[in-house]
Amino acid sequence: MALEDAHGRLIGDLRVSVTDRCNFRCRYCMPAEGMDWIPRDEILSFEEIERLVRLFSRLGVSSVRLTGGEPLVRREFPALVERLAAIEGIDDLSLTTNGYLLADQAADLVAAGIDRVNVSIDSLARARFFEITRRDALDRVMAGLDAIAAFPEVSPVKVNAVPMPGLGREDVLRFCDLARDRGFQVRFIEFMPLDGDRAWQREDVLTGAAVRALVEEVHPLVERPREPHATARVYAFADGRGEIGFINPVSEPFCADCDRIRLTADGKLRTCLFSLHETDLREPLRAGADDAELERIVREAVWRKELKHRIDEPGFRPPARTMSAIGG
Ligand code: SAM
Ligand code: SF4
Repeated sequence: MALEDAHGRLIGDLRVSVTDRCNFRCRYCMPAEGMDWIPRDEILSFEEIERLVRLFSRLGVSSVRLTGGEPLVRREFPALVERLAAIEGIDDLSLTTNGYLLADQAADLVAAGIDRVNVSIDSLARARFFEITRRDALDRVMAGLDAIAAFPEVSPVKVNAVPMPGLGREDVLRFCDLARDRGFQVRFIEFMPLDGDRAWQREDVLTGAAVRALVEEVHPLVERPREPHATARVYAFADGRGEIGFINPVSEPFCADCDRIRLTADGKLRTCLFSLHETDLREPLRAGADDAELERIVREAVWRKELKHRIDEPGFRPPARTMSAIGG
């Protein structure tokens, strides 16, 4: 029987964080320094991740996204992709990466069976990219994007951008050109209160509607039908290829048909990005729990999946873990 929560939502999508470490320090995600890393012995091994993904797939999960931290800094990462790609029932295996190591790993990832890749790029201007990510690495990331886009079997290629204060019309139009020239889907993700600096303020959120208005000053858009459980509202350009998407968790929450759960790098199950409570799977796994016992723990946790996030409600408390340690 599929995994179901108390609000009648069925779970089909799992995000697996493979590390909390990262080679970038994006301002909306990590502090410049002073992160407390998860100790290595607490990080799930590839065998442990595979065992859990197999279990989730038997419980109805068909879509798995690998994330972090930066997944490509995990040693031998393509070997994990290969293990997960072989699991029956997982028909969409994808990756979210900052792209820094992608040129080196693209061929191995494709050979291992990755289906789709999203590359996070917050600005196409070198200085602004540096300012946001605290790394002067735009050229290298673009080379990574080119490397993965060279494989037609990895499709569609998506680019994720968090519109931070200061994003202007020029920046937005550069993203439109990228989408149009290359046939990519560029998606703007609203800044959420999950940053390591704890500096998030509602006023800093550039909403999807505001960014879309900038796009539409120049490029008319046509909305695509919304797919079930989709987080993004996707638009085609009225006059050409490429797409622009808007993921608006702050201004237009999409919790009502959320079908997603998350596994952190240290083996905790989270039923919402904003969960204040997590369920440990590593301890029972390492203590020798059989699948029936793990299934019972998972079902109980999923049943209590949060109805919605409460970012806009008085008394909102962000989770103790920030984005890089949860797995975005
Ligand atoms: N390191 C990889 C990357 O950057 O693509 C994967 C992990 S990262 C946490 C996953 C996604 O979360 C990225 O697209 C990133 O831009 C986004 N993200 C991180 N912090 C965020 C925040 N506070 N609000 C909205 N999106 C955020
Ligand atoms: Fe690293 Fe991704 Fe967070 Fe940037 S968003 S600091 S690349 S985990």
